[in-house]
Amino acid sequence: MAYQSVNPFTGEAMQPFPNITDEALQTMLARAAATYAKWRLLSYASRAKIINKAAELLHEQSDAFARTLTLEMGKRISEARGEVDFSSRILAYYAKNAERFLAPVKLHPERGEAHMESSPIGVIFAVEPWNFPYYQLARVAGPHLMAGNILIVKHSSNVPQCALAFEKLLLDAGAPPGLYTNLFVSHEQTDKLIADPRIKGVALTGSVEAGRSIAARAGKAVKISSMELGGADAFIVLEDADLEHAVKWAVWGRMYNAGQTCCAAKRFIVVEALADKFLAAFKSALSALRPGDPLDEATTLGPLSSEAAILTLLEQVKVATKNGAKIAIGGKRIDCRGAFMEPTILTDVTPSNPAFRDEFFGPVAMFFEVKDEDEAIALANNSDFGLGGSVFTKDIARGQHVASRIETGMMFINNIDWTDPELPFGGIKDSGYGRELGDMGIHEFVNKKLVRYAKLDAPG
Ligand code: NAP
Repeated sequence: MAYQSVNPFTGEAMQPFPNITDEALQTMLARAAATYAKWRLLSYASRAKIINKAAELLHEQSDAFARTLTLEMGKRISEARGEVDFSSRILAYYAKNAERFLAPVKLHPERGEAHMESSPIGVIFAVEPWNFPYYQLARVAGPHLMAGNILIVKHSSNVPQCALAFEKLLLDAGAPPGLYTNLFVSHEQTDKLIADPRIKGVALTGSVEAGRSIAARAGKAVKISSMELGGADAFIVLEDADLEHAVKWAVWGRMYNAGQTCCAAKRFIVVEALADKFLAAFKSALSALRPGDPLDEATTLGPLSSEAAILTLLEQVKVATKNGAKIAIGGKRIDCRGAFMEPTILTDVTPSNPAFRDEFFGPVAMFFEVKDEDEAIALANNSDFGLGGSVFTKDIARGQHVASRIETGMMFINNIDWTDPELPFGGIKDSGYGRELGDMGIHEFVNKKLVRYAKLDAPG
């Protein structure tokens, strides 16, 4: 069965789900298109009633949603609860603010009057990853449903129960059938969906490889798309940083979600004045993390999402060391049940090492010592990715100056990737294009329509 989760802590396989048949797929598409004809005409207040209710239910049932998440992909339970609550806040935020974001904007032509109207475009197909099984769905559902669009969603094959739980959430909240449809589709069926004329836009969050394939399909069908892909974010520590504060963020930045976050800190770039002290404190903090059952509140190190994930990471570490990298700590699988990887720091990663341009999707940090701020910026920009990044300094103006010189879609000063529902999220270069969330996110899949009214005589 293509869609099945395997508990990464126990290795136990959970319920499998067959792929949808081509015939049923057509029925679902037709239903989505029919729902759009009505949904697009509803007032924001009527849409908000449903999306708000979904936010409420998610909040009320936080424990149950979080438990499913932890069982399916191994996220520590406290983080899982945090993700559920954040997802609920996203839904509530767009229920409240969508009308304001999408209000007509007055233009000022030389003659007459004009405005830009933001109207929905139809059924959007979203392809989503497993690392934030609910947040990723809320990130598309909140803005795009409130904008009057419809969603058909393909979630990762390893989180089918989370996928179904979110679909049920919307139905329980009163969504008309067809407003939000989860589909267990194969990659081949995904291609057919993208080409189908009823699909008007495609949103992918996933790997660069998936981005290349799906963006090409969308391009061929001349459909608008947004691509939220991988990252190798730099975490820059300048000589005037608060070391203790920076190390705490470094640990969180690399280890949150067992290191499986697109915008995690992956490349630690520290100026020489603080390098030794930072590395020592970072090593000691990472070494203190203890593996355990992700359902146990006391666990500080969760498993990776799957056996395949840990095997990939171990192979990447092997390639890195073969090409000259040194292991400061970790580097191995933890000798216990489950997909546990030792928190790892690699040093001496040179530009000729394949690891230099790689994304490590797990608890593996690359550490670089640099001479000064300029060298830190040059190294940070020497990446195929351009998602986020952070800089630590007590001088905020200096931090802003560094942030301006880094080639990424997001920069954070003295914190890392602390996202909020109202802030846009996304990257440049191989990290993709388009933005999710915020004012920009809700405008991704709307028709920006010019309406002009002027008493003009036709040219004779
Ligand atoms: P992935 O393998 O690309 O999978 C993501 C989604 O795309 C899954 O639903 C997957 O379905 C689907 N998919 C992959 N290749 C496909 C194809 N050729 N045709 C149709 N569907 C396809 O990525 P992942 O391993 O799940 O997630 C990790 C990656 O996502 C990392 O690179 C991470 O940085 C990135 N990410 C980015 C963001 C962001 O906002 N920028 C957020 C989270 C994660 P199957 O499961 O069925 O293969």
